Amino acid sequence: MNLTSSNNCKGNILIVDDTIANLRLLVNLLRENGYKVRPVTDGNLALEAIEEKHPDLILLDIIMPEKSGYEICQTLKANPKTREIPVIFLSALSEGLDKSKAFQIGGEDYISKPFQVEEVLARVANQLTRRSLQAQLQQKNQLLSQQNSQLQLLLKATQAINSAPNLDTALEKILALVCQTIGWDLGEAWVVNWDKFVLERSRGWYANDPMLEEFHLFSQTLVFRPKEGLPGRIWQTQQPEWIEDISQQQVQVFPRCHLAAAVGLKSAFGVPIIFDNKVLAILMFFSKKTPTPQDRSLELVNAIATQLGSFVQRKQAEAELFAANQKLVLLATLDDLTGVANRRYFNEHLAREWSRLKREKTPLSLILCDVDYFKRYNDYYGHLAGDVTLKHVAQAIKQVLKRPADLVARYGGEEFVILLPNTSMEGALQVGELIRQQVQQLKIPHSQSLVSDYVSLSLGISSLVPSLNESPEVLIKMADEALYAAKRQGRNIAVARQVVLD
Ligand SMILES: [Mg+2]
Repeated sequence: MNLTSSNNCKGNILIVDDTIANLRLLVNLLRENGYKVRPVTDGNLALEAIEEKHPDLILLDIIMPEKSGYEICQTLKANPKTREIPVIFLSALSEGLDKSKAFQIGGEDYISKPFQVEEVLARVANQLTRRSLQAQLQQKNQLLSQQNSQLQLLLKATQAINSAPNLDTALEKILALVCQTIGWDLGEAWVVNWDKFVLERSRGWYANDPMLEEFHLFSQTLVFRPKEGLPGRIWQTQQPEWIEDISQQQVQVFPRCHLAAAVGLKSAFGVPIIFDNKVLAILMFFSKKTPTPQDRSLELVNAIATQLGSFVQRKQAEAELFAANQKLVLLATLDDLTGVANRRYFNEHLAREWSRLKREKTPLSLILCDVDYFKRYNDYYGHLAGDVTLKHVAQAIKQVLKRPADLVARYGGEEFVILLPNTSMEGALQVGELIRQQVQQLKIPHSQSLVSDYVSLSLGISSLVPSLNESPEVLIKMADEALYAAKRQGRNIAVARQVVLD
């Protein structure tokens, strides 16, 4: 419908009549009255003219050679693209106008020949007004249904946010929802890491095409500082930003432009999630086409981003609290003096590993070790020096243990315990010997030792495959016996006891 777009013209009218005199008369009349008119003399030309540009109204003669007006009207009404164009039939009374047929096949009105000027103008104006009102109504309906679907989307977004267990999941749901609604191909989110002061990729993302995986994988390794790349710029300006053609960007401005082009991404749109005047995260959307930035879609994404603000803030606070709690838990499991695990934590860990290895039927080894002549050391060098030495010994043991599952704990005054899961007696003996050497190499003078000039360790080692009938205590008991044997053998030595269970 062109009525609204052409301000100077009252309407665009196509006149179809095989009688030149009629044609001329109507053309002159309507042009004089401010209409834009295109005259054609037969049906085929009429269809071509309509195809080329849709008129606002068609005045259509009924009796013509080749195609009749009725036929043309039927063709137009059968096509959804031309169905809405109103048709007024032109007919001489002598030609026997079949009014009921004219209306039946979709004609809106008819004008009788010979033409009465007032009648022609009135009927034309009437049809154009109706058409214009109809178009306005359609526009309003469209807007309403658009607003309705946007409200639905906002509602869905709210539900998704509220039911998400964590930030990544919430972002993933939102990205999918928005991409599917506004027809974009890839969505990702960048979250501010306040400790490092960078934007990091959220694990939540969306793509409608597996080919985009490469872009996602590459992006995972990136971080953006303020002003860096599109996310960094949005972080800085706190404003949404739209890039119509990524391939026209320089690497400094859009670091991923080459990869984006390689996977076929054309346009990008980013919007900040702000809470309390602080940017918490950035939502980024990519499209393979260059979509016209529709104000409504961008407005909608903004509305969703606004809703996400308080949620992101809440989830980040929760994560911080969790981390703080973890730290407290960790503190409760550590030995104050040496910073290695404490005995309580060791006992829990031993119980866990015992049941795990019982299922796996693999060996568990334990080393119990003691600083040689430590009472003499304390008496001579003082308790403060003793404490420092214990710290050094603990660190030396820790350095030998390479596997994450290995654990050293302070077991008593100068006694340490080491748990080695999935380790045979031979392996444990090797670790024990390494620990002994590591402590010797500290070369902490111990003039009161009867076995070495330096601080040294005696180590007792036990090893077994946990079984149903035994408890972890047997492992400790055997290591303790091995430790006594080591002391009897002169100290500064590692001794192992294989435990064979019935
Ligand atoms: Mg005719």
